[in-house]
Amino acid sequence: MKFESILLPGVEAKRPIIIAGPCSAETEEQVMDTARGLASIGIKIYRAGIWKPRTKPGGFEGVGEKGLPWLKRVKSELGLYTTVEVANAKHVRAALAHDIDILWIGARTTANPFAVQEIADALEGVDIPVFIKNPVNPDLELWIGAIERIYNAGIHKIAAVHRGFSSYDKKIYRNLPQWHIPIELRRQMPDLPIFCDPSHIGGKRELIAPLSQQAMDLNFDGLMIESHCNPEKAWSDAAQQITPQVLEFILESLVIRDTMQTTENLSALRRQIDELDNNLLELLAHRMRVAEEIGWYKKEHNMPILQTQRYDEILQNRVQQAIEMGMDGDFMKTVLIAIHEESIRHQMEIMEKS
Ligand code: PEP
Ligand code: MN
Repeated sequence: MKFESILLPGVEAKRPIIIAGPCSAETEEQVMDTARGLASIGIKIYRAGIWKPRTKPGGFEGVGEKGLPWLKRVKSELGLYTTVEVANAKHVRAALAHDIDILWIGARTTANPFAVQEIADALEGVDIPVFIKNPVNPDLELWIGAIERIYNAGIHKIAAVHRGFSSYDKKIYRNLPQWHIPIELRRQMPDLPIFCDPSHIGGKRELIAPLSQQAMDLNFDGLMIESHCNPEKAWSDAAQQITPQVLEFILESLVIRDTMQTTENLSALRRQIDELDNNLLELLAHRMRVAEEIGWYKKEHNMPILQTQRYDEILQNRVQQAIEMGMDGDFMKTVLIAIHEESIRHQMEIMEKS
């Protein structure tokens, strides 16, 4: 896949490219007030949800098509580009008929290949940038599949939007960031611009600044942030919206590290990492050889391979030790389970040998 630039005339290629605007278009006045505030802080791309996917019926489901002329006003009076979420072919046609500049596909839609294909078919022959949010579930293949469907329809101006992944564990985040997923997407598709949506990851205002900073440190290209002229009174996602003034403050506080300067220091550090990884591999191979010797011993003495008590002790001790060394306990558990599985595999091979 060869992606084309998503930058529209007048939008600078400087990180972060910002898309901002309310979760939902509510009234013409709210749309215009918010847009004026955002234009005054230099925002160039204005978002607003027109059709809102809600978890349960009875929530605010968006104003629908009657909101599209309001966005047209934003465009003609304030000169902002506009973007809306589309979830089916009807939305696509309505948005195009009202000169919307960019379309985005929401997380619930990306998770549904039928819906994505319907949107792709409706976009055949149209030249418009399309932003594709990650699916609600942490499935990179599904995300890439949606990107491919849109690309195959002839849309080559594509960006991905990382908005976190749904989970039961909502202690800190509304949607878990699972940064390794967009990082892997970047590895597989280095030319695809990636935006972060800290509003839907955090679910609360206080998390927008730290999440945006993390996204910048991970070299994301842009941010999609929900902003509302009167956040507390918002009809949807009130807890996570910020005024244009707060947005300006957050954007000014971001530290943007220049990716172009691959310094001497960095290559020295990278050499260290290569060497450490080598050592890790050697150590693991050594550990496997010892496990094999244990395998031979167990075989000669007719002992079973799996000795649960010993395994439990190893897990507990090592996890504790890892925590004391400043690592995450769950991380170490995952590593140990994988190592143990590989050791067992080696020992099974020995048992099968005659
Ligand atoms: C939104 O951007 O308002 C939205 C509904 O987002 P998501 O699809 O990420 O839940
Ligand atoms: Mn929202």
